[in-house]
Amino acid sequence: MRKKIVAGNWKMNKTFKDAETLLYDISDLLAESEHPGVIVIVCPPSVYLELAVDFAYEEQFRVGAQNLHPDDFGAFTGEISAPMLKSLEVDYCIIGHSERRQYYNETDDLLARKVKSALNHDIIPIFCCGERLPERQQNKQFDVVKNQLREALFDLDEEYFSRVVIAYEPVWAIGTGENATPVQAQEMHAFIRKLISERYGAETASETSILYGGSCNAKNAPSLFAGVDVDGGLIGGASLDAKEFVKIVESFTM
Ligand code: PEP
Repeated sequence: MRKKIVAGNWKMNKTFKDAETLLYDISDLLAESEHPGVIVIVCPPSVYLELAVDFAYEEQFRVGAQNLHPDDFGAFTGEISAPMLKSLEVDYCIIGHSERRQYYNETDDLLARKVKSALNHDIIPIFCCGERLPERQQNKQFDVVKNQLREALFDLDEEYFSRVVIAYEPVWAIGTGENATPVQAQEMHAFIRKLISERYGAETASETSILYGGSCNAKNAPSLFAGVDVDGGLIGGASLDAKEFVKIVESFTM
């Protein structure tokens, strides 16, 4: 059965003390909460990964990075690689977030290399795809997402692909307060699953977790997660508030 996942992307937020408090509160609230079968992932800034791994020792949540460099080691000042993340016991990594595509010119070719590097080092990529507003306005969202998946993921063999988590994040919904409707989310998730089925077969498609991301919060999560092809969420802003984040984790049971 495919996994239900709620992942929090803290982006570039929190000082050390605030990160410590948030991790403490998330661990505490998760320990008291009912969320059977839901995998919770916290993706803090890289400087707090080790701290997050320490807080995750009771396995209330898993830890993910927000980015990695596709090479293992070398003269790449400021970068962090998959073997470095793995040595900290980081299990997941967001790859291809729209902010990295937009501000750091990350192309699907580069993202394909990042995904392979993560998988080579036993890190599960949370691969982000999604259209920008003008593309949706021109009804090109399906072509855009299809292209992103083909270019960055569909060269993987089945064994590697089956470990990938996909996050559909319409760029117009990220950080804007305007989420996709449950119908729009379900429609795109079903489309993504169909593409996976065509490339890797129905069984792999049905086992792939596809998350929704874009202004998801405790209020809209239950209706978004009700979509049959929506397996959880990648949460930005709302993951910075422990209570709100844990309520989202509990949304599957509502
Ligand atoms: C994100 O950054 O992945 C995201 C979904 O952000 P937000 O929830 O703030 O829209």
